[in-house]
Amino acid sequence: MGFRIVVSDPIHPSGIELLRSQPDVDQVARPDGGNLPELLADADALIVRSETKVTAGLLENARRLVVIGRAGVGVDNIDLAEATRRGIAVVNAPTGNIVAAAEHTIGLMFAVARRIPQAFEALKRGEWRRGEFTGVELRNKTLGLIGLGRVGTEVARRATGLQMRVIAYDPFISQDYAARLGVTLTELESLLREADIISLHVPLNDQTRNLLNRQRLELVKPGAIVVNTSRGGVVDEAALLELLEAGRLGGAALDVFATEPPPSDYPLLRHPRVVATPHLGASTVEAQAEVAREVVEEVLAVLRGRPPRNAVNLPAIPAEVDRVLRPYFDLAGILGRMAIQLLVGQLLGIRVTYRGEVARYDTAALTATALAALLEPVSAERVTPVNARLVAERRGLRVVETKELDSGEYPALMVVELEAAGGNIRLGGTWMRNEPHIVLVNNFWLDVVPSTPYYLFIDHHDRPGMIGAVGTITGRHDINISFMEVGRLEPRGRAMMVLGLDDPVPPDVLGEIRRIPHVYSARVVELSARTGSD
Ligand code: NAD
Repeated sequence: MGFRIVVSDPIHPSGIELLRSQPDVDQVARPDGGNLPELLADADALIVRSETKVTAGLLENARRLVVIGRAGVGVDNIDLAEATRRGIAVVNAPTGNIVAAAEHTIGLMFAVARRIPQAFEALKRGEWRRGEFTGVELRNKTLGLIGLGRVGTEVARRATGLQMRVIAYDPFISQDYAARLGVTLTELESLLREADIISLHVPLNDQTRNLLNRQRLELVKPGAIVVNTSRGGVVDEAALLELLEAGRLGGAALDVFATEPPPSDYPLLRHPRVVATPHLGASTVEAQAEVAREVVEEVLAVLRGRPPRNAVNLPAIPAEVDRVLRPYFDLAGILGRMAIQLLVGQLLGIRVTYRGEVARYDTAALTATALAALLEPVSAERVTPVNARLVAERRGLRVVETKELDSGEYPALMVVELEAAGGNIRLGGTWMRNEPHIVLVNNFWLDVVPSTPYYLFIDHHDRPGMIGAVGTITGRHDINISFMEVGRLEPRGRAMMVLGLDDPVPPDVLGEIRRIPHVYSARVVELSARTGSD
């Protein structure tokens, strides 16, 4: 059965179309007249903007829900702690509006430098006052960017095209990065003293609150322009007004305010050198379409068991790490699902080992994926990478992650090991030729590409006739073998046979195989299964 998705706030129609065009999406529902709780009862995903309040009460009966997508950035309307507790990933769409914000910044820079809104207002009143509105050009001016993140970068690119000199203050990016953009990194004080236009592109946090305070504003060049499209609160608005009134600043352009909306008689808005918009930075048709596409892709990634790029309640995966690690998420799921079905006796602990190139990266999300695959089939609650560690902890399972740079003949290895009363289970895999390979089963090296729905793991003594004996039984019961692999430590010693099967193995057939002389144990694993075969 395909996924059922509820979209409870308006998003760009292209997002809905994208969802409907997916072969694995069965239903895209839009609630009306208060039926959201009923629709959520059998929904796999919920997409909201900021209107729907996703409370603990609303999630109460959303038992199938795996992911909540926020078409936009802020998640204040979502009870994150409750979502995390329930194993529901919360993803957002933080990059869709970057260009919109950058273009708006550039637009505001021109608007304030040429006083376009003020001139237009005068013209509308029938006043043709040309002399008063002589502006300044942006060309050859110094633009000082505070924050050279995603929006700051796009502003820098555009400003260089306008033949501006761009300097930036951002202690958390590299010199190389700035240099590639043609931007010179500098200290905050020198930026304030040098820039003709100062534009803010930082997040609002304890370090950036009132970043542009009175003391710093007093450092700026006479006639400088301040532009803020980031977040209200990073500029001291009272000090800004005072410096404007004193004629110290040439102008200011604001898209964001400490209090939104600001009071209607807000003096800053009435100042003749101020241009302002009501938080419109992200408001373009393209950004809305882009945000809808981004959130839909994120939601689909989670539904399909892949890591999202922008999970709010999961560690973010930087793009370059993602490129290397992405295939290993599929592998992590396979290793986890297989290992739990091979378990005999009490599970005591779980060790996940990364060897080779994967060991260089932050593998927390990979371990969480393996844990979720291990624990989901044996849990009544939903276990996902979001809450897998919590669930393991609550179950008192020791989870250890180890890393080794040496990976032998493979570029990378991920090994999931279950410490268990009935004997430890070890499954190791790698990613080669665009597909996952299981290459280690306990102590045996072999090469199995998990391409069939069923597997037989037969621990036995290597001697002539073993493969034939197994093949005869499966053949007699019309169980088709896709492939067979044997790993052994030495000829005629202990060995592991793995058969990939197209058909399930009924318990009586498994019993027959277990009774073959020199078979120590035989286990069936189903890759799409919730639980093991016996
Ligand atoms: P980002 O995280 O990509 O970039 C922020 C940058 O600020 C980073 O490079 C970071 O290193 C830097 N930074 C953090 N703390 C700093 C400090 N104390 N001093 C100097 N630099 C610091 O974020 P972004 O997507 O570029 O967004 C930037 C701002 O724009 C955010 O506040 C965001 O909310 C806002 N925004 C507004 C609109 C709008 O509608 N007006 C739209 C998009 C983004």
